[in-house]
Amino acid sequence: MNDSNYWRKCTTCKHPIGFGALYYVCSVSTCNRKRSQMVFCNIRCWDAHVPVMNHREASAEERRAPSAQQAQAQARAEASESSSAASGSDILVVASRVKSYILESSGMNTSAGTLEALSTHVREIAKKAIERAKEAGRQTVMARDIKMPEIAAPRRNVVIRRRPQP
Ligand SMILES: [Zn+2]
Ligand SMILES: [Zn+2]
Repeated sequence: MNDSNYWRKCTTCKHPIGFGALYYVCSVSTCNRKRSQMVFCNIRCWDAHVPVMNHREASAEERRAPSAQQAQAQARAEASESSSAASGSDILVVASRVKSYILESSGMNTSAGTLEALSTHVREIAKKAIERAKEAGRQTVMARDIKMPEIAAPRRNVVIRRRPQP
């Protein structure tokens, strides 16, 4: 975590830009990428990068640096965001349906991590199904490409056992 007493350093002169200080950003989108945004302590430092970056048309935009507290909160948010993106943990299941299924069938609650774990399974199952569809020369993944879970069998037995009862 950034525990220094300034926000960031100027891209051109490496002079620190303090928390809550005015700074400048470039209007060109490639200088404003989320993870590698160029920041300039004053308009001359912005001026200096224009020929270096070969901009045909560019302007400087004045911004104000976040306070130390805001910067910390932002860094935390970005850290959790990037860790979930790296592990490919987009939630692929309908959270409310899964939660109500678990609640209704067991009375139990569902943690957020459960949804990620289920999503990992869904991703793996989908990957295998894609492979099978490819092998079959299809452009469409079909139900038969999906391997059914083994728990399907015992469940059917439960139903059969109930039937003979009067
Ligand atoms: Zn500077
Ligand atoms: Zn630029």
